[in-house]
Amino acid sequence: MRVLVTGGAGFIGSHIVDAHLVRSDDVAVVDSLASGRREFVSPRVRFFQTDVRDPALREVFAQERPQMVNHQAAQVSVNASVQDPIHDADVNVLGTLRILSLCVEFGVEYLILASTGGALYGEPARLPADETTPVAPLSPYGCAKYAAEQYAALVQRLHGLRACSLRYANVYGPRQDPYGEAGVVAIFTGALLEGRRPTIYGDGEQTRDFVYVDDVVRANLLAADRRADGALNIGTGQATSVNAIYRALAQTTGVTMPPIYGPRRPGEVRHIALDAGTARERLGWRPQVAIEAGLAATVDWFRRQRQP
Ligand code: NAD
Repeated sequence: MRVLVTGGAGFIGSHIVDAHLVRSDDVAVVDSLASGRREFVSPRVRFFQTDVRDPALREVFAQERPQMVNHQAAQVSVNASVQDPIHDADVNVLGTLRILSLCVEFGVEYLILASTGGALYGEPARLPADETTPVAPLSPYGCAKYAAEQYAALVQRLHGLRACSLRYANVYGPRQDPYGEAGVVAIFTGALLEGRRPTIYGDGEQTRDFVYVDDVVRANLLAADRRADGALNIGTGQATSVNAIYRALAQTTGVTMPPIYGPRRPGEVRHIALDAGTARERLGWRPQVAIEAGLAATVDWFRRQRQP
């Protein structure tokens, strides 16, 4: 299969690329390197340093003629979206629309869109939240991702491009950016290994659903195999507080210093966990990596990165 992965130099996208390569798929990557890293992209892949908003992207589609597009490229920070909602919408709505238009123009058969379960449902009355939970984002990022999902569903109705939105929970694992604004596991691990005290925004009792990147990659491959469509939550259903994550990572890294507590940030939800029952039924997917094992593997990877 010819696959084009946008954001393929990023954390999740680069793992998706590697998984397709294992299957001997023919893979091309589009990434602006806004946050991704060139060295995460296998040399066996054709790499285009192109912004998804750039009209030059048409040339990439014309050259590559992908059968499938996996759209992972995005502005990924909730906080950055609150600071600059126009940039967020530019990348996450208009960038996605450009991808969708090119998919239609070049007859792409199937599209996966990386969406969010963590930032879509606001503060649901019942947890874990399934896909019937009312959509009520608390951030521009959540709004933009939902708009992107709606455009993808519309393009399926109008033009028959089969499209699936995978609503990820909080994904963590190797290659996540420790200096970014999103991803507490990477941020805490990076800081702890460098002897810095991480900041927790709020009291740390906010809870998240942490899902390991390998599980998320498997969901992407299963969706592609089955040509699933619609919106599917990808999470564990398990709520873990940010304080608990800090304690676990401090223990694993052998650090005893406490975190710094800062003010709660606008746009962040208090509690979220996702019910992935639909993904279980339709993809046969369920998470396989327990949080303890996932955190240990992540710390291990960050440690190895620091070795000369
Ligand atoms: P990431 O920042 O590592 O990856 C995003 C990639 O997109 C980067 O390589 C970046 O360089 C690229 N990119 C950004 N803007 C671009 C642009 N305008 N044109 C081309 N490329 C651009 O983040 P990630 O965590 O791997 O996120 C992947 C996808 O998953 C995103 O769509 C994100 O919104 C979604 N998601 C992530 C999480 C999570 O917890 N990590 C949760 C829910 C949804």
